[in-house]
Amino acid sequence: MNSDRRVLRAYDDLLRVIEQVSAPASLFSNVWPDDAMRTEAEKSEQLANQLLTKISLDKKLFELIATIDAAGLNPLEQRLQVRMLRDFRRAGVDKDDATREKITSLKNELTELGQQFEKNIREDVRSISVNNADGLAGLPPDFVAAHQPNEHGVISISTDYPDFRPFMLYADHAAARRELFIKFNTRAFPKNESVLRSLLEKRFALAQLLGYSSWAVYVTEDKMIQNAAAVAQFIERINTAAKNRAAVEYDELLAYKRRTSPQASTVAEWESPYLKEKLRAEKFEFDSQAVRPYFVYDRVRDGLLALAGELYEIQFVPVTTATWHESVEVFNVNRGTATIGRIYLDMHPRENKYKHAAQFHLQSGVRAVQLPEGVLVCNFTDPQKQIPALMDHDQVTTFFHEFGHLMHHILGGNTEFAYFSGVATEWDFVEAPSQLFEEWAWDANVLARFAHHAETGESIPAALVAQLRAAEEFGKGLFTTRQLQFAALSLELYASDPHGFEIHTRAIELQNQYNQFPFEDDTHMECSFGHLDGYSAIYYTYLWSLVIAKDLFTKFEADGLLNEAAARAYRQHILEPGGSSDAAALINNFLGRAYTFDAFEAWLAK
Ligand SMILES: [Zn+2]
Repeated sequence: MNSDRRVLRAYDDLLRVIEQVSAPASLFSNVWPDDAMRTEAEKSEQLANQLLTKISLDKKLFELIATIDAAGLNPLEQRLQVRMLRDFRRAGVDKDDATREKITSLKNELTELGQQFEKNIREDVRSISVNNADGLAGLPPDFVAAHQPNEHGVISISTDYPDFRPFMLYADHAAARRELFIKFNTRAFPKNESVLRSLLEKRFALAQLLGYSSWAVYVTEDKMIQNAAAVAQFIERINTAAKNRAAVEYDELLAYKRRTSPQASTVAEWESPYLKEKLRAEKFEFDSQAVRPYFVYDRVRDGLLALAGELYEIQFVPVTTATWHESVEVFNVNRGTATIGRIYLDMHPRENKYKHAAQFHLQSGVRAVQLPEGVLVCNFTDPQKQIPALMDHDQVTTFFHEFGHLMHHILGGNTEFAYFSGVATEWDFVEAPSQLFEEWAWDANVLARFAHHAETGESIPAALVAQLRAAEEFGKGLFTTRQLQFAALSLELYASDPHGFEIHTRAIELQNQYNQFPFEDDTHMECSFGHLDGYSAIYYTYLWSLVIAKDLFTKFEADGLLNEAAARAYRQHILEPGGSSDAAALINNFLGRAYTFDAFEAWLAK
């Protein structure tokens, strides 16, 4: 036995230093405008991952950590030792040389396949053409103004979110909506068919080498949920709670459609946002276009920063510094006179940029060593291209969601070890802070602070927010069953030997099993479902975290969304510890009890 606790710290430091390469490399491969730089970043990420794999299979290092006498360690160090040894074993350090070599080459191939999968999605922007006369009917005036016809009188609508979302929601031109939906859901097809198959096959092979029956069994082992069977049970439990509501909502949409198409027997998935919008307008006297002028991008950003500042006792101070693109805004995060982190906001679409919304790390914070730096990468309307740059309310909630991740990363970035910094908690807990923060985007008092009408400057009326909330109630069942479809797809693709099984057929079957809307012919959503790489088998984490987020929110519901004590308790019990305790223990500390499904089920039943 050795008693050198410094070994733990040195190993933590080594991982931290490698992250100084891997984190920016991963970010830059997704956002850097220049092709050559993105390619270089991908190579750097590969090298960093290769090094991590090599270290994780180093028997000498493993033995050095394994022989540290735990009796000489404090509780946090003991936890670190247990976690590090578990990671070594899960990496395959105790396998023979030949097996470790196979593991190494599979992991290296998987890094490259994952990059290829993401790149094919990122670089495949498709578009449809509509003519001026009827093509934009139904769309908001700001959208129409920003989409002028070219010299041939043709208007191009792309699969990027600022085009795709409003068009699917508002365009009266049904055929054009269907065409855009099909384009959106064939992105990266057929290129990603073979990439996805290789990802499944190689992950299955890797799991087998490591002694697991499937990748799903392997990847769930270190999560809150602990095993793949529990994921399947969880999916069924939520399905039981949601499916009747989803069926009722679907029938309402169908009945609504039959008023204008009496022969209709189904509602297609591409019709659902539009019909839902119209039905909500009628049922709740609510038109989401009436809300849109209240959400001007710049004001939403400023309002969100002010809100987070108030809740978490911090200030955001703009900084001028070189970044990868001129539109990126940088803020130091200060508490009093101390700087505690830095955030970057890369918020608008451009060519070859990541297409979804996510928080990327630039650096994990470690107490007295380095400050946390995080980056929001989103695709909201660009104020440089569209004035006013209006957002739909669902984009506002996306902004809040990603900001929730960012605050977890920054406020959790003062841990003693990099290993436990910020969002380095169990992965299936990671979405809880982001989903919780979405709740603030639904509060009339919060919204009134920054949701000021683009033309009149008037604050959003509480009555309009009440309508927005009432309308949101409709569609919760359909939302949940769609999430279940994704969760089941992600689980099932990784739950068995993929050789000889038809991925596309399975995707169709699972849509038909969980989702009310039938699978749309000629689409291949699995090819552009980026989470099938990044999350592999564990897309269930979104619903799992949502169950927890709804429970965490009960405390704010009771005490008030702007209650200082509640916000401080949340920060101290949930965000600041990062992964220093098990997520279940953090939740317990905050709620004063174990989490339950009650709040989620009540939300779904409301
Ligand atoms: Zn998230």
